[in-house]
Amino acid sequence: MKPFEYKRPSSLEEACTMLAAQDGRVKALAGGTDLLVQMKQGGLELDALVSLRDVPGLDALHLEEDGSLIMGSATPLGAIENSPDVRRAFPGIAEAASFVGSMQVRSRATVGGNLCNAAPSADTAPILIACGSTAVITDGQADRTVLLEDFFSGPGQTVLGPGELLRAIVVPPVPETGFAKYCKSFRSAMDCCTVGVAVYSDFVPGSAVVRDLRLALGAVAPTPIRARAAEAMLVGQELDEALTDRASLEAVADALPISDLRASAAYRKVLVEVLSRRALTAARAWAERGAVA
Ligand SMILES: Cc1cc2nc3c(=O)[nH]c(=O)nc-3n(C[C@H](O)[C@H](O)[C@H](O)COP(=O)(O)OP(=O)(O)OC[C@H]3O[C@@H](n4cnc5c(N)ncnc54)[C@H](O)[C@@H]3O)c2cc1C
Repeated sequence: MKPFEYKRPSSLEEACTMLAAQDGRVKALAGGTDLLVQMKQGGLELDALVSLRDVPGLDALHLEEDGSLIMGSATPLGAIENSPDVRRAFPGIAEAASFVGSMQVRSRATVGGNLCNAAPSADTAPILIACGSTAVITDGQADRTVLLEDFFSGPGQTVLGPGELLRAIVVPPVPETGFAKYCKSFRSAMDCCTVGVAVYSDFVPGSAVVRDLRLALGAVAPTPIRARAAEAMLVGQELDEALTDRASLEAVADALPISDLRASAAYRKVLVEVLSRRALTAARAWAERGAVA
């Protein structure tokens, strides 16, 4: 590995100033579980790494009074998975975090690193998009926000500009009538997803009529995407078995998968249908159990 400078800023402003310098040959270092692998094995050459370890506030993890969830970008996935607050109020997010790598990986890997690495297969992206999350971006002076679904601009690319950091993720409260779940298909333990599907659905109280719904797909397009045609089919309708089947098939039309070492495009399309059905069936079962009464 080519020698590089290791910088340890102690404020957001200092970190962003360091990131803005050196003509793009500098990157933020969170858990390093993607970045160090890319530098050791992928030939990525950088002049400097800017550690986020000493920057205050980036490991925040708490519920606001209105029930929204704040996750600092450098919060380890293991902390999210094990947080009693997250498990109670956002079980789908805790479960998705638990699907990443191993316990050892999750003790280092951060939610911000998972999103900023911008792999189309990033496990936290579909569930956070389905939940309507917002990315809080800072240049060290001021924040700007973008919906997480607009954060990714291509494989390995985000809307972050030079000198900008992802500071936090804000997940709006899930109402009592709401349900969210992530379904992942992978070949073996500690594997990135072959396809990931997340659903967020809000039901009319006491029924399985869909008031609001987002279906997000991972690893089937250059970025994580929403299956908008399937969503349109579901909103305002009673989520019964026949509609679940039709919408799961429609989600396939929203996907643009490629063939790679994990799966062929054709197999990925089958997985989109299977996992969409699984996610929507779980939502329907939850509504039918009277969880929304
Ligand atoms: C054995 C193994 C198994 C894995 N399994 C999975 C899996 O099942 N699912 C999955 O999704 N991933 C998996 N991964 C990938 C990886 O662990 C995750 O993507 C992880 O969440 C990355 O977080 P990190 O903190 O390590 O990021 P880093 O490696 O530190 O950074 C990743 C990228 O994000 C940038 N970055 C980090 N934080 C910020 C920030 N706040 N603002 C701006 N840019 C930032 C970095 O500059 C870098 O470009 C696996 C990795 C390994 C090694």
